[in-house]
Amino acid sequence: MFNINELKWRDKPVKYIKLNESRNKSTIVNSKKEKMYEYYKCDYCGDEIRLDLKQHERSGGIVNLPHSLTQCGQVTVALCNKCVREVQKELEERLDKNIKWVI
Ligand SMILES: [Zn+2]
Repeated sequence: MFNINELKWRDKPVKYIKLNESRNKSTIVNSKKEKMYEYYKCDYCGDEIRLDLKQHERSGGIVNLPHSLTQCGQVTVALCNKCVREVQKELEERLDKNIKWVI
């Protein structure tokens, strides 16, 4: 379930950093955390959306949901391509049934 209330107060989707942690746990002293890539977490399913990939290879990105869909102003979310339609459908269903978001 997509919760717009949690998302509308957030400035913008958080960028996470994937670290390559040492596989050998016994050598903690020498373990270095190496930055592998940055990613967003899909606000719908929680999957990683890697930002090191080229635009057309990425599994998703930033989506601005217009006020006409959210009824509470423009909300910026991170979504995978496969989730955009789901979110849109969910928001449209709410509009159809005239369900207001409880704030
Ligand atoms: Zn997703």
